[in-house]
Amino acid sequence: MTDATFDPLNEINRQIAASCKIAGRNPDAVQLIAVSKTRSADEILPLLKSGQRVFGENRVQEAEAKWPALKTEFPDVQLHLIGQLQSNKAAEAVAIFDCIHSLDRLSLLKALGKAMREQAKSVPCFLQVNIGAEEQKGGCAIADIPALLAAAKDESIPVIGLMCLPPADIEPAPFFALLAELAARNGLGQLSMGMSDDFGTAIMLGATHIRIGTALFGKRAV
Ligand SMILES: *Cc1c(COP(=O)(O)O)cnc(C)c1O
Repeated sequence: MTDATFDPLNEINRQIAASCKIAGRNPDAVQLIAVSKTRSADEILPLLKSGQRVFGENRVQEAEAKWPALKTEFPDVQLHLIGQLQSNKAAEAVAIFDCIHSLDRLSLLKALGKAMREQAKSVPCFLQVNIGAEEQKGGCAIADIPALLAAAKDESIPVIGLMCLPPADIEPAPFFALLAELAARNGLGQLSMGMSDDFGTAIMLGATHIRIGTALFGKRAV
């Protein structure tokens, strides 16, 4: 195949379908989130023109700078926040995002609850779990999941599933399997797990949302 005809979006969708076939899953049950952090509008446009509508950003300010203009042309775009969120940005996040993957602590939960009430907007959230108990990583401790889910219920925040970023440079499968087990134990149906290097494994283990940047856009400059 020549490079001129290589279409990364097509290729990723083909790989998703192949993984789903092996896993005996319906490809419609796996949502591809195109991670467009650090990418310019010019880099994002070809994906929009190919029909991709779900995008992930890791910073509120970057999303605010980039997406309103793109959304005037593609109003059905859905934006997912996949990066760490500071409580003082909760209101802005609720205003611009359709889904938040990084809910991981009580203070943020309260700020999001307040913002959703004030804006009369209910934004589905994933509870991010620090699945490898790594000191420097975001995400709640496994032991804190039930209390955070109860607090989210009190705040009327719709928590639809669990999200994780497994430790780097180790086989991710056991961490994905553990996240799936924790979701099932807590009655949660959605799993945000799997990135460019490991989404096939994540799909085998039940991922419903995969977050892919590099494999769609190429290596990030930073
Ligand atoms: C950047 C990022 C991704 C995408 O990673 P790639 O390896 O480029 O596919 C996925 N999830 C989160 C939380 C990220 O910050």
